[in-house]
Amino acid sequence: MKIGIDLGGTDIKAIRLTDDGSLDADFTIPTPAHAGRSAIFHALYCAIDALWTEGITTIGISSAGNIDPLRGVCVYATENLRGWTGAKIAPQIEKKYQVRTVCDNDAICALKGELAFYPTARNVTMLTLGTGLGGASLVDGKILRGKNYDAARWGHFILVPKGLKCTCGKRGCAECYVSGSGLIRDGQRKMLGIVNAKQIFDRYVSGEPEARDVIEKFGFYLNVLLTNIRATLSPDFIILGGGIAQSETILRELIADNDDIVFARLGNLAGAYGAVSNFKNRYLPS
Ligand SMILES: [Zn+2]
Repeated sequence: MKIGIDLGGTDIKAIRLTDDGSLDADFTIPTPAHAGRSAIFHALYCAIDALWTEGITTIGISSAGNIDPLRGVCVYATENLRGWTGAKIAPQIEKKYQVRTVCDNDAICALKGELAFYPTARNVTMLTLGTGLGGASLVDGKILRGKNYDAARWGHFILVPKGLKCTCGKRGCAECYVSGSGLIRDGQRKMLGIVNAKQIFDRYVSGEPEARDVIEKFGFYLNVLLTNIRATLSPDFIILGGGIAQSETILRELIADNDDIVFARLGNLAGAYGAVSNFKNRYLPS
């Protein structure tokens, strides 16, 4: 049995998998993202305790931030997870539970989870459209890491020079425009009563002109980003995951050339599955 946990800026998704890989239990709890490192660890412990049972052999953590997968340590995280930079995620959990624990970046975990459906794929990029915008790329069969474990972090690719301020400190990052938080920011500027991205998609479907403006602007920047990814890495296909990718029909309409676009088959649980993926060794740095 394995426990997979996806630690995001908004919530923690936790799953338990049986030895044959089937889903045995899952639940979601809010992330105390602004309460500091020990509160975040406490929430992870609560999730693990709730899923704990005899025979757990592996705990996998999918975490936002730049993660060194060999040490299981968060090298850098934005203020979306306050105090998480430097957190010794895998060592601390392994010490407490005395079970082999692994940790990797959340978009990389989502990619690893989805790659289970494409075992022969060698060039694939994953975008996770959630509160933020996660990115990970498999190039010639290896996951791009980079010297600071921040390669292919497409959310921080500059789309608008001198544009909106991002949580990473730079300006004009893709995450400011192609994410749930970007949609909500724009939606609240133009419409009343917006508290989540789904409302904007719903009001787009019902034909509200302000919602159409917001969604079309989002689609414009998504297309620019996809074009840049294709030009940089020439992937066989690009997987869209995260909460916003659940509006698949609308996203397909928005993406000008969508022959190389597929949607996450594991939905919102891709990161939690990928955290305990058997494919881990294949994608670790050599
Ligand atoms: Zn950024």
